[in-house]
Amino acid sequence: MNVVLLGSPGAGKGTQAEMLAHRSGFTHVATGDIFRRNVRDGTELGKLAQTYMDRGDLVPDEVTIRMLIQSLESEDGPGGVIFDGFPRNLVQARALDEALAARGEHVEQVILVEVSDEEAVRRLSARWLCSNCGAIYHQVASPPRRQGICDNCGSELYQRADDRPEVVRTRLEGQKPPADMIEHYRGAGKLHVVNGEQSLEQVHEALDEALGIPYAH
Ligand code: AMP
Repeated sequence: MNVVLLGSPGAGKGTQAEMLAHRSGFTHVATGDIFRRNVRDGTELGKLAQTYMDRGDLVPDEVTIRMLIQSLESEDGPGGVIFDGFPRNLVQARALDEALAARGEHVEQVILVEVSDEEAVRRLSARWLCSNCGAIYHQVASPPRRQGICDNCGSELYQRADDRPEVVRTRLEGQKPPADMIEHYRGAGKLHVVNGEQSLEQVHEALDEALGIPYAH
């Protein structure tokens, strides 16, 4: 099953996608993570993407779609793929449909995780990530046991440069799921809307229910 997770920056897509990957065996494909890896490794793609990421803008579709297709070619997990952060617009949504069709597959379910701008800002400004395994923490709501250290793997935590308040505002203005993309999925009868302002577990439960997965506590 191929699942798309949509939502504003800060909606909790990454956290929920990780939970789905761990609990239900999905392969987690996050374009933001792939870009960040390329930035860290100093690749040409990373250098190009960084200029956009630093400003809070989207990386051009052509570049992003090519990268996504490449990463799909190396994924064939038995449990399906969860797309987190892709597609961001209708052009990307259509490109994903085509790329999956070429493999005899399609997007089965789409989940839109909704949060208010105030909540998104509150979350992003207090977000810490693990430099090694990508685990996500919130300074107040879900802090690590030892400050600055990942509970899972003991590596150092860091704050994303694009979680700075001024960049967060640009991201929230420019990166909300656009109406035409939402309609693309709603019209196909694939869209589920989930309230993202509940606890992590409640959101996860709602996701499992939408996907028809028996909820695992
Ligand atoms: P994210 O981790 O999903 O918040 O993405 C971090 C940054 O990577 C975004 O602000 C964009 O600059 C870039 N990015 C991630 N996914 C996409 C995408 N599907 N299309 C264009 N840019 C993207």
